[in-house]
Amino acid sequence: MTRDVCFCGWRGEMADREPIYAGDGEWGLLCPTCGHLDRLIGWPASARHWTLTEAARRRDRLTEAQDSSLL
Ligand SMILES: [Zn+2]
Repeated sequence: MTRDVCFCGWRGEMADREPIYAGDGEWGLLCPTCGHLDRLIGWPASARHWTLTEAARRRDRLTEAQDSSLL
């Protein structure tokens, strides 16, 4: 599993952060603790795509779980 540490001290998986549109056609991930927007600069396109897709999927799943108790 990919682990990340924000400068504020938050630890967790990249995909557990919230995907946010950062403008200019770019997306970033928001730290749940301090709100720092990580635009994944320097990441390979495939890694960025996977991480953002996974983050969005997890958020969708959480929403669905509340509606239909999938989890
Ligand atoms: Zn942070």
